[in-house]
Amino acid sequence: MLEKVLIANRGEIALRIMRACRELGIKTVAVHSEADRDLKHVRLSDESVCIGPAPSIDSYLNIPAVISAAEVTDTIGIHPGYGFLSESADFAERVKESGFVFIGPSPENIRVMGDKVAAIKTMKAAGVPCVPGSDGPLGNDADTNLRIAKEIGYPIIIKASGGGGGRGMRVVHNEAALISSIALTKAEASAAFNNDVVYMEKFLANPRHIEIQVLSDEHGNAIHLGERDCSMQRRHQKVIEEAPAPGISDELRDKIGMQCANACLEFNYRGAGTFEFLYEDGEFYFIEMNTRVQVEHPVTEMVTGVDIVRQQLLIASGEPLEYKQSDIKIHGHAIECRLNAEHPDTFMPSPGMINNYHPPGGPGVRVDTHIYKGYSVPPYYDSMIGKLITHGNKRDIALARMRGALSEVVIDGINTNIPLHQRLCSDAGFVKGGVNIHYLEKLLGLT
Ligand code: ADP
Repeated sequence: MLEKVLIANRGEIALRIMRACRELGIKTVAVHSEADRDLKHVRLSDESVCIGPAPSIDSYLNIPAVISAAEVTDTIGIHPGYGFLSESADFAERVKESGFVFIGPSPENIRVMGDKVAAIKTMKAAGVPCVPGSDGPLGNDADTNLRIAKEIGYPIIIKASGGGGGRGMRVVHNEAALISSIALTKAEASAAFNNDVVYMEKFLANPRHIEIQVLSDEHGNAIHLGERDCSMQRRHQKVIEEAPAPGISDELRDKIGMQCANACLEFNYRGAGTFEFLYEDGEFYFIEMNTRVQVEHPVTEMVTGVDIVRQQLLIASGEPLEYKQSDIKIHGHAIECRLNAEHPDTFMPSPGMINNYHPPGGPGVRVDTHIYKGYSVPPYYDSMIGKLITHGNKRDIALARMRGALSEVVIDGINTNIPLHQRLCSDAGFVKGGVNIHYLEKLLGLT
């Protein structure tokens, strides 16, 4: 077992990782910026190291600073959490070269999945269903590109291979706009991602976002933990997630889940990962793989009883998974609301001092957060300050518990999106279940 783990992250996920380490008897090292001395996990970890000034580029994204902190503390493993360096193949490589264990997949796996054209090629070869598309990068020949688009059928979407965060994409509705759109997307991709490779896919009109959680160890065990529905999005950012996805049958879950688990064996994946799909008319279409723990992992934990971060630590230690596929059963339903320090209507970030804080409680309520009364939310980072997760035997019970939790929680001094969540958890469409990825923006009048 890894005896000491450095947590290369901040906020709720750093605390989450620290707790999983503690349960396994692993000592923890917190690294933090000058603005984050008061983070809860910094106080609770066995050791802590300040790695630089507030801006992430000088601290949480500063690879030499993180590696030095690992060296001075005699760390064994490094957990990257989500965001920051978690999907940097260069970081994973540096961790390995410096003699530490990266708690995640190999740099090779991260690199392939970070390049969308390579990722799709790998998935196709491993039998994962993908969106009908150009089967690789688009060349410069206009006739060829027009022919490919015609074969796929309009509307199509041009996507940057190096894109991310919902950027580097353009929808094309007809032939007349195709060639100029390819040129534009290429130019933008080159400027934004330093990589002008673009490809083409069928544009799905009203899909849902459904993703499969996998775990895979180095002993040839790969399992899936079912799916999450993350269709409630604003600007490609997830707002509410749930597991299981409304309307997905056990057969469909098993089929797509096994395809993902088998793919992990096929490309030698090690660790936790998520296969993201668009889902439309009963079909799954792969869009990308996240090679890390995700913000929304708790909903899967609540319905399966599997501690995903614990499994990550075990896998990285070279231990086998604690579960076989036949051990995994879906119990009830779980919902997660992401709590952000932002104005509920304008979405303007709202950093500052939390004057008062009362967490909600009761059966089936979980709160993953680092905030406390007197904590000041710094202006430098993502505005997410925590997650409310509720579980119940049935979806309507989980939802009722979420409404209760949202009405109980008190966070004073800053604006939060709690009023938005209250509205959404009583919205007829969301309550019914199975909404598509455009639903929330339409509801908010943003499209
Ligand atoms: P990123 O890495 O930037 O998040 P993704 O490939 O995951 O890019 O796509 C982000 C979002 O763009 C998807 O969640 C979906 O809303 C939209 N999108 C991407 N590809 C398609 C497609 N083929 N059809 C319809 N929408 C798409």
